[in-house]
Amino acid sequence: MEYIKSNEQLMLQLIETLVNIDSGSYNKEGIDHVGQILSDEYEKMGFTIDRKHNKDHGDNLVIQHKDAGDTSILVIAHMDTVFPDGTAAERPFTIKDGRAYGPGVIDMQSSLVTLLYAVKALYEANDESYKNVTIILNSDEEIGSPTSRGLIEELSEGKQYALVMEPARANGAIVSARRGGGGYTLTVKGKAAHSGVAPEDGISAIEELAHKIVKLESLNDHANGIAINVGIIEGGAAPHMIPDEEIAELDVRIAKQEQAKVVEQQIEDICATPDVEGTELILEGGINRPPLELNKRNKQLLQTVKEVGASIGLTVKDVHTGGGSDASFPSALGVATIDGLGPVGGELHNENEYLEVDTLTERCALLAKLMSKLSEK
Ligand SMILES: [Zn+2]
Repeated sequence: MEYIKSNEQLMLQLIETLVNIDSGSYNKEGIDHVGQILSDEYEKMGFTIDRKHNKDHGDNLVIQHKDAGDTSILVIAHMDTVFPDGTAAERPFTIKDGRAYGPGVIDMQSSLVTLLYAVKALYEANDESYKNVTIILNSDEEIGSPTSRGLIEELSEGKQYALVMEPARANGAIVSARRGGGGYTLTVKGKAAHSGVAPEDGISAIEELAHKIVKLESLNDHANGIAINVGIIEGGAAPHMIPDEEIAELDVRIAKQEQAKVVEQQIEDICATPDVEGTELILEGGINRPPLELNKRNKQLLQTVKEVGASIGLTVKDVHTGGGSDASFPSALGVATIDGLGPVGGELHNENEYLEVDTLTERCALLAKLMSKLSEK
């Protein structure tokens, strides 16, 4: 605790350094730079870095102490942000009235530093639980983890716990459940015709899609955490042309894994038969991200986090959220998982994103104590 408190300024300096590097999901150079800075710090403590090279994205890093045996804790943090190149120069790291600002400051450069200093604190205190940890720093969470999902799933094998470093919510709560989901593209084909000259020759793709939109939206069941949103429709050429093609894009969210098959079947059934004779429907996609469910295992881990919090004078609350994260993957594989272990902040993914500076050391201490507690034999 003392070590962490006395290093607050260094932590903030490192956050500043990381925030001021553009590291959007498609900026390989920036993410690799962030990864290098963190790797250097871990290497100083005898950690080894297994760099999983990526051609188009930043490298994913697997970090473990050289004397680590079979670790039981997987810690997951991402290095990419949602911000385009140039954002760091436009609005670099600043602190005002107890809040820090800058691209990715809370999602999740502050978490990367919180994690590093939690490990450093254990190392400095000769608490060997830092040898019980496998850390993955991935490069593509913000775009659905295309290159790192498999790696996370691979590393989940044999682990007892997964700690996910997404930020705590604005009210300080950690995250104990998230919805899963996926997406679909529905293409409708009809037959074009001039609506003045030969309307009887046309088959309207828009009319067909209109039927489907109403049916798909009727699947919404907010009480049970099921959300279907037809968020984009595209098509049509001119008011006097009967449209021959129309495309809709759907976002789907579920609260429980068992809902996935049911909802997928309902969507497929709706799109199996046209309402407008002569149209053709092509449905692509599916539910690909499992929810983070508050099952028995996860509840137990949540309880441990609350107890550890209480031991350092921190009342830990938890929330359920609709957004996705990498926490879903280990949890679906049977690893006890908790999310939102980063410091407190808000306004994620927009220019007002902020870190509550005074929560940095408290969350760092919580994480260090938690890793220590979970390593007790
Ligand atoms: Zn994030």
